[in-house]
Amino acid sequence: MSIKWLSNQDYEKLLSGLIREYSLYAPCRSEKELGFRLVEEISQIAIEDSGNTRFPPKSLFFPQSEVLMKYNGILHSVEKEEKRKILFGVRPCDARAMKLLDHAFNDEKAPDEYWQSKRDSAIVISYACIAPGGTCFCTMVGGSPFGTVGSDAQFVKLEDGFVIRIYSEQAEKLFTDLPDAQKKMTQAANDLFDQVINGMPAMVEKQQVHDKLLSLFESDFWREISESCLGCGVCTFLCPTCFCFDIVDETLRKERVRNWDSCMFRIYSLEASGHNPRPTKSERTRQRVMHKYAYWVDQINEIGCTGCGRCVEFCPVNIDIREIVEKALHWEMIGGAK
Ligand code: SF4
Ligand code: SF4
Repeated sequence: MSIKWLSNQDYEKLLSGLIREYSLYAPCRSEKELGFRLVEEISQIAIEDSGNTRFPPKSLFFPQSEVLMKYNGILHSVEKEEKRKILFGVRPCDARAMKLLDHAFNDEKAPDEYWQSKRDSAIVISYACIAPGGTCFCTMVGGSPFGTVGSDAQFVKLEDGFVIRIYSEQAEKLFTDLPDAQKKMTQAANDLFDQVINGMPAMVEKQQVHDKLLSLFESDFWREISESCLGCGVCTFLCPTCFCFDIVDETLRKERVRNWDSCMFRIYSLEASGHNPRPTKSERTRQRVMHKYAYWVDQINEIGCTGCGRCVEFCPVNIDIREIVEKALHWEMIGGAK
């Protein structure tokens, strides 16, 4: 790993070069929201805005709606990106989420070409969070506001410029002309980390949470915590690690399309026989929480929630996954029955 320095004066020059050579996506502010968009001018980039984008950048690899093939007798081939992509200003929780999604889409036996072709052509440059939002809890689930999992490089903003930590060869090539960061700069970045991390929530014991949730599988706990859920699916649609989809044939368009789906929808698990193994919101909420905090742990020994806080911020009835985990751990103590 090398560590470079980019002064504020050289920022525009470097970014202009990247915009010319690559398709560069970054958080941009519109009237409606902060979101990842293709950047044409540097003034569009809003990486220093507080808060995360409404939608996570996973949609650049796994679009909300994607044509898989056309019915003209020939399989639609996976299109290769012409220009390489750079995702710039990705928050560490979202970079980590894309790494987690690689486990789902990049399965050895059945890799998903649609995901992989876009992933292969992309460089992820994260942006260390120096002001985590009130709903952020990456530290509770094993992440960090300066975490680098899933990043090819990471920018840390200091007063006069950026410390750039570089983790891959492809990112190394982007910054070869920059000077190495001096020790006082890297020290300032480390000091900043100490300030930011102070006061963030402590990490949960993942095996303890896993075991506790499994022990509550048949409990009333799920009915109680899901009582106000509207089944709107917002929590899953905005989640950087949710990856459920449905495939439909759009016969008029003669296309086979895959669309995001949500385990929070009633018909998601409805079988053709009419039987529904998750008939109420209680089972559906259980599935959402168990998948993140128990099943991912079984499969890859990691919690499948990165603490981005989107589901907490945007749930219309204020259901808070942090509180669910906390409540589960103390369920008997607060009078709940197994
Ligand atoms: S966002 Fe809230 S109300 Fe909507 S499905 Fe998720 S938990 Fe239920
Ligand atoms: S479960 Fe909620 S906090 Fe966790 S990664 Fe998904 S949206 Fe973010």
